[in-house]
Amino acid sequence: MLEYQVQANALKNKVILVTGAGSGIGREAALQYAQAGASVILLGRTTNKLEQVYDAIVAAGGPEPAIVPLDMEGASEQNYQDLAATIEEQFGHLDGVLFNASVLGALTPFDQMELEMFQQVMQVNVTAQFLLTKALLPVLRKAPQGSIVYTSSGVGRQGRAFWGVYAISKFATEGMMQTLADELAGSNVRANCINPGATRTKMRATAFPAEDPQTLRTAEDLMPLYLYLMSDDSAEVNGQSLDAQPDRIPGASVSR
Ligand code: NDP
Repeated sequence: MLEYQVQANALKNKVILVTGAGSGIGREAALQYAQAGASVILLGRTTNKLEQVYDAIVAAGGPEPAIVPLDMEGASEQNYQDLAATIEEQFGHLDGVLFNASVLGALTPFDQMELEMFQQVMQVNVTAQFLLTKALLPVLRKAPQGSIVYTSSGVGRQGRAFWGVYAISKFATEGMMQTLADELAGSNVRANCINPGATRTKMRATAFPAEDPQTLRTAEDLMPLYLYLMSDDSAEVNGQSLDAQPDRIPGASVSR
C-alpha cells in the first residue's frame, strides 16, 4: 500500500467532484476528501445514497457538500456543460475530479456479448467520462492545480477471457488518460489513473459471487493513493497509471 499520510486540512478550500459517490469506493473517497477539508460535489444516479453521504459529511463536521443526481447512461453533453457552468458560478473553479462511476456489464464469452450491453457499458464507462472531462476542463484550468483521476482496472492493462466490454472500456480509460495527459503536460492540470485492485464492494461481489469478501481490502484501505492524487503533493505527477494495491497479484482474490 502507498505509505502516504495526508496532512490535516490538505484539501482545504479545494472543490472536488466525485462520480459514483453514493456507494463503494466513490463513497469512501468523497468522505475522506471532505474530512481533509474539501468541498465535495457528489454525483451519482441514486439520490438517496448521495443524501446519506451528504449527511455523513455534515455530521462529521466537513464542509457542506453539493449533490448532483445524474444518470451517466442517459446524460447529454448539454447536461455536463450545464454542470460545469453551475460549478463555475458557485465555486469559481474545480480543483479535482475523480471519475469513479462504472458499470460491469455481463461477463460472457466474446461472441455472446450483446450490442445493447456493449453500448451501455461504453456509454457509462467511456463516453460519459469523455463528455464530462471536456466540459470540466475550462473550470479545472481555473484552479491553481487541477487533478483529473480516472479509475482503471487490472483488465484495462491486460485483457482477460470473459471480461468483455468492461475490459475494453478500461483500456479506453487508460488511453483517454494518456492522450489527455500528454496534451496537459506542463500545464496546471494533470491526469492520472488509479487501478484500485480487488476491493470489498458490490461490483466485486457481482463479478466474484463465490469469493469471501473478508479476504479483500476495503475501500478505506485504498484511500492514501486517492488522497495523494488530489493533494498538491502530486502536482508533478501526470500520465501515470498507479496501483492502490501494488502488492497484489492481478486476478488473485487474496492480497499477498
Ligand atoms: P460499485 O458498483 O460498488 O459502485 C459504482 C458506483 O458507480 C455506484 O455509486 C453507482 O451508483 C455508480 N454508477 C454506476 N452507474 C452509474 C450511472 N449510470 N450514472 C451515475 N453513477 C453510476 O463499484 P466499486 O466501488 O467497486 O467501483 C468503483 C470503481 O472502481 C469503478 O470504476 C470500478 O470499475 C473500479 N474498480 C473496482 C474494483 C473492485 O474490486 N471493486 C477493481 C478494479 C476497478 P449506484 O450506487 O446508484 O448504483
